[in-house]
Amino acid sequence: MRRKLAAGNWKMNGLSADLGELDALAGAASGPDTEILICPPATLIATASARAKGTGLLIGAQDCHTNASGAHTGDISAAQLRDAGASAVILGHSERREAHEESSEIVRAKARAALEAGLAAIVCLGESLAQREAQNTLDIIGGQLAGSIPDSATGQNLVIAYEPIWAIGTGKVPTLAQIGEVHDFLRARLERRFGAGVGRSVRLLYGGSVKPGNASEIFTVSNVDGALVGGASLKAADFLPIIEALETA
Ligand code: PEP
Repeated sequence: MRRKLAAGNWKMNGLSADLGELDALAGAASGPDTEILICPPATLIATASARAKGTGLLIGAQDCHTNASGAHTGDISAAQLRDAGASAVILGHSERREAHEESSEIVRAKARAALEAGLAAIVCLGESLAQREAQNTLDIIGGQLAGSIPDSATGQNLVIAYEPIWAIGTGKVPTLAQIGEVHDFLRARLERRFGAGVGRSVRLLYGGSVKPGNASEIFTVSNVDGALVGGASLKAADFLPIIEALETA
């Protein structure tokens, strides 16, 4: 039985004054079947963690370095994120794969560092519009999955987020059949690589323009265990209906 997960990615948004949004989410975070995770910018992780302490609301990060420590000015290690109160870290988001030229090899090294530090890794995969139109979606996703996931992954420390690049922040969403095809494919690949036990226990999130108005139908798709939400996670008033849709799915 996989616990559902509603994860919010605040990206480079949010100041201390915005942490009040967490209070309403904390109130919703007591259900036994659904986890709620907010990944604020690194500057807010420690204060967000202190604020969420004891509520069940989880706090995560948006990236980490491949190394545990060292001369890497401006970077943050997984151990430092954990020390600040994070329990998970998003890795391989398309904005990092594109803007920071992160390859799947780098994402895998970061995921390994995250697992070694005791963080769960939320590894993002997704095709561009050109790749989908060329009918290469499953090849791209399969390659990213094989390249980005370390062998030490388990259902406890790995979450996969399928995020078509063309759906992120655009208001465009794949059809339910398209989401289902990719999620079933991911499940089959995970079972083939890790065996049925681990393969069936890894949670698969859909991400890309999830909103209060479309969340319920997305959560009906098989092998969708939750969502990674960008814009609609910034305000509790938008994120709460998505959480509720997941809880009742
Ligand atoms: C994201 O960037 O992870 C994301 C899913 O963004 P949005 O929900 O805004 O499309």
